Amino acid sequence: MLVRTEYQEKSVNVLLDCGYSVPPRFWQLGLDVETLDGIWISHFHADHAFGLPALLVRFWEEKRKKDLYFLGQKGIESFVLKCLDLAYPNFLPRLEFSLRFMEVEPGETVTALGLSWRTEVNDHPQRDLALRLDAEGKSVFYSGDGRPTSETRALAEGVHLIVHEAFHLSTDIPGHGTIAGCLEMARACRVKRLALVHIQRNVRRERFDEIRELANSVEDCEVLIPEPGHQIKL
Ligand SMILES: [Zn+2]
Ligand SMILES: [Zn+2]
Repeated sequence: MLVRTEYQEKSVNVLLDCGYSVPPRFWQLGLDVETLDGIWISHFHADHAFGLPALLVRFWEEKRKKDLYFLGQKGIESFVLKCLDLAYPNFLPRLEFSLRFMEVEPGETVTALGLSWRTEVNDHPQRDLALRLDAEGKSVFYSGDGRPTSETRALAEGVHLIVHEAFHLSTDIPGHGTIAGCLEMARACRVKRLALVHIQRNVRRERFDEIRELANSVEDCEVLIPEPGHQIKL
């Protein structure tokens, strides 16, 4: 997911997670090689990070010069460097732009790229940090993977948009969110917009009517089920 903010008359573009499907989608958008300012990695699972080597090598090929920021939990630097080295051994020195790393652990407020970054731990088998971004009076919450916790609910309180993974429909299984659980979270956090992502493919394909019905049952909250390319303006 690409987040763009207008900050002091210049735009800042941040990518939230970078799974395998991201690079082709990113290239289809035809963005300038310097467009992206930062990448948030919620956790160290391949479907959230293995798009990184392809993106970085393409940036090298297109002669990017601008620093690229990586933000994530402790260990973000070694994880990203390991990914790149596994995909393209010894490639790092060839990049003509610098990779800059910042850790954003729960309890800290980090200011980077003109945005305020805060995190809390979600319920997921691999440690995942849910992220709250604030800028210019607007705020967005992004779960990464995992079932909401009391800490992530507190973090999401009153944001303008929750983007949450909802792998299952309504069966509450540890480690992942549900559509029903996300609707309940949005209500409890007094959030007026909710985007459901990372829905299990068979659930999405075969039970879409039920999903829509559940989504429409919520008052005072717009529930979105985005397709690739979907744009939301806050
Ligand atoms: Zn995961
Ligand atoms: Zn995932």
